[in-house]
Amino acid sequence: MSAPLRALDDAFHAMVERSRTSPPPSLGERHDRLARLRAVVADNEERFRQAISADFGHRSAVETTIAETLLVFSEVRHATKHLKSWMAPQRIATALQFLPARNRLFPQPLGVVGIIAPWNYPLQLALAPAIGAIAAGNRVIIKPSELVPHFSALLRELVAARFDATEMLVTGIENEVAKAFPTLPFDHLVFTGSTRVGRIVAEAAGRNLTPVTLELGGKSPAIVDPSADLEEAAERIAYGKLLNAGQTCIAPDYVLVPEASLQAFAEKVRAHMRRMFGTDPNNKDYTSIISDRHYARLERLVADAAQRGAKILQPAKADDPNWKARRKFPPTLVVGATPEMAIMQEEIFGPVLPVMGFREAAEAIAFINGRDRPLALYWFGKDRTARDEVLMRTVSGGVTVNDCLFHFTQINQPMGGVGASGAGAYHGEWGFRTFSKLKPVFYRSKLNRLADLYPPYGGKIARL
Ligand code: NAD
Repeated sequence: MSAPLRALDDAFHAMVERSRTSPPPSLGERHDRLARLRAVVADNEERFRQAISADFGHRSAVETTIAETLLVFSEVRHATKHLKSWMAPQRIATALQFLPARNRLFPQPLGVVGIIAPWNYPLQLALAPAIGAIAAGNRVIIKPSELVPHFSALLRELVAARFDATEMLVTGIENEVAKAFPTLPFDHLVFTGSTRVGRIVAEAAGRNLTPVTLELGGKSPAIVDPSADLEEAAERIAYGKLLNAGQTCIAPDYVLVPEASLQAFAEKVRAHMRRMFGTDPNNKDYTSIISDRHYARLERLVADAAQRGAKILQPAKADDPNWKARRKFPPTLVVGATPEMAIMQEEIFGPVLPVMGFREAAEAIAFINGRDRPLALYWFGKDRTARDEVLMRTVSGGVTVNDCLFHFTQINQPMGGVGASGAGAYHGEWGFRTFSKLKPVFYRSKLNRLADLYPPYGGKIARL
């Protein structure tokens, strides 16, 4: 066994041993762990911004703040405030024939929770599940992505400085560590990443009967209803797409627009993209693509769509060599995309927006239902009947009506996918429950006449 694998194995078993021999952490201990985790971020915000930016080539500092550190702070704040009531045993009604016995539901820590994080929001997607797991009294091991080495090294160093290695730990990012991680018999595993790797992780976890929360990706549609304000929808979709240069799991992947408005809508999105992010590849607000390989994939998707007859619209001239040199991908609209184009078959995960026309709402619904269930769905319009029809007839991880992304920021809502976009959910109390064993306890009363049910049965059952 190599040194990194040996270190992982030893750390895991030490943590399991501690979790099995210690009492569950008290409210005070959990508050203390949450406060230390918050301090890891709060005391090092600038270092995190720089590390993540170094990994991306350039990551907008504002985007790191709003989509990573602030979300971590609000998750800690919420958990800290509500933890006492979450931890309290819950009263469960007792069926009439069992009165006056009592029922209680006891939340208990599961033990050791493993977290496999992606690179796109490396801080938030590593720590938000960790907050839920710690609040629920677990010990946590995080495996960050190999694509963010500066960030991963920093998180590892800072967590090691504030946590005992049996409380919380960050592993290395070696390939062999990634492969071995999901084979460890964790009490729960959270995987955030692609559907492809999600299958590998779920299979490995299945062998240990380790329950897994799968936060996966896919193609999240936006529907612009004929009743929508086109200008408003165009602005909000432009932002939803270009945040983090489209490298957002819940970004609107493609848009379905009434055929008659296709061109007008695409022009409006282009104008908003230009107003928000300008035309200069050096713009500090605009984030780079994570790697040359990811950049080349986006180029291939656009070239394939153009070759198959789609119209390519860009808010900025794409021939400036600085775009590629800085790995900034020029925002791109693919107007008149069709299902056979590669861009309509794989998750885009970049600042490229296919726009497709539809004639009737039923057609848009059928298009979505003919594909994998999406992680997010966005609907724009004023017609409530049309809105409710889409909400009722489609199944997706979450929905924002008349905007993009914001359902994710609602801390009391369970964030998670369905089908190919994932399984399970966390955030807020949903996270606490995901990472707890909710143990039903029945307190028999001495007044219960349950012995009446013992054999010899005779005619007892008939009398029930
Ligand atoms: P990825 O699947 O390539 O990698 C995710 C993690 O899995 C990384 O830590 C990686 O090191 C690890 N990994 C890779 N191969 C592995 C293997 N064979 N065994 C075990 N672990 C392995 O995903 P990514 O490129 O980092 O992230 C992008 C994807 O994640 C997109 O599909 C996106 O939609 C999805 N995503 C989903 C959410 C969500 O909340 N649902 C959030 C962010 C990203």
